[in-house]
Amino acid sequence: MTAAVIDGKAFAEGLRARVADYAATFEQSAGRKAGLAVVLVGDDPASQVYVASKARQTVACGMASFEHRLPADTAQADLIALVDRLNADASVDGILVQLPLPAHLDEQAVVERIDPAKDVDGLTPISTGRLALGLPGLVPCTPLGSLMLLKDRLGSLSGLDAVVIGRSILVGKPMAQLLLAENCTVTIAHSRTRDLPDVVRRADIVVAAVGRPELVRGDWLKPGAVVIDVGINRLPPAEGEAKGRLVGDVAYAEAMAVASAVTPVPGGVGPMTIAVLLRNALVAAHRNAGVPLAEGAL
Ligand code: NAD
Repeated sequence: MTAAVIDGKAFAEGLRARVADYAATFEQSAGRKAGLAVVLVGDDPASQVYVASKARQTVACGMASFEHRLPADTAQADLIALVDRLNADASVDGILVQLPLPAHLDEQAVVERIDPAKDVDGLTPISTGRLALGLPGLVPCTPLGSLMLLKDRLGSLSGLDAVVIGRSILVGKPMAQLLLAENCTVTIAHSRTRDLPDVVRRADIVVAAVGRPELVRGDWLKPGAVVIDVGINRLPPAEGEAKGRLVGDVAYAEAMAVASAVTPVPGGVGPMTIAVLLRNALVAAHRNAGVPLAEGAL
C-alpha cells in the first residue's frame, strides 16, 4: 500500500483564493482594506524571509500590509509603544510580532500587550484561554492549518485516537486542544514520554511537532493512520550539496508504506501557516469592523 500525499501547497492556494474573495467583499462593506501589521526586530535572515513572504502574500490577497522593521538593539519600551500604536490604529486588524525576539527583550510581555482582537498568531493568554474554554477566538496558524488538512482528508474526526508529539505553546498544545474540540481522544507525547513508539502505534491521527529529523519511523505507525508532519529540519549538506535537504519529523518513505495519508516536507503543513495567518487577519477584520462573516466561511 502507498499512502496518499496530503497536498498542503494546493490546499493553501485554495484557502488564499477564498481569503482574496472575502477580502474584496470586506473592502466593499467596510470601506477600507483589511490590514495586517508585521513587526520584525533585528536582522535574523530566516525571519526576514518569512516577513517579506507574509507581506507579499497579504498584498496579493487584497489586504493592506504594514511592515515595521526595528533595529536589533530596540528597547523593550519602544517595542511596547509600537504595539500600543498598532492596537489603537483602526486600519490594523491583525498584529504579528515575528518570534524569536532578540534575547534582551521580554517576549511574553510583548505578546501579552497585543490586543486579543488583533492577535492573529493566537498566542496571547486571552486567545489561549478561549481555545481551552472552547470559545471562538483566534487560533495559532500552524495547528489550525494542520486541522484543516485533517478535516479535508477525514471529514469527521469524532472518536478517533490522536497522538500529538510535542507540547509547545505554538504547535503541540493548541493542536491537542483543536483535536479535543473535534471529539478526538487525544494524547500529548513529549520528550519525557516513555515508550513513544508504543504510544504512537495507538493513533489514527499522528501529529509530529518535535524538531527532530525523521524521529517517527514507519514501524511506529498503525496501518492506515493519517500523519501530519509539522517538523521542518535541515540536514547537514551531503557531498556536493550546497545546502542540506529539508526533512520532517517523520521518516517519509517509511510512513508512506504504512499510513493512509501523509503530509510531505516541504509542501505539506508549511504552506498552510501563512495562508491561515491571512485567514485569521481577515476573520479579525470582520469582527473588528462589525461586518458579518458566515460561520466556517473561511
Ligand atoms: P519546540 O522546540 O518548541 O517543541 C518541541 C517539542 O517536542 C517539545 O514539547 C518537546 O517536549 C518535544 N520533544 C523534543 N524531543 C522529543 C523526543 N525525542 N520525543 C518526543 N518529543 C520530543 O518546537 P515547535 O515550535 O513546536 O516546533 C516543532 C517543529 O515544527 C520544528 O521542526 C519547527 O521547525 C516546526 N514548525 C513548523 C511550522 C510550519 O509552518 N510548518 C511552524 C512552527 C514550527
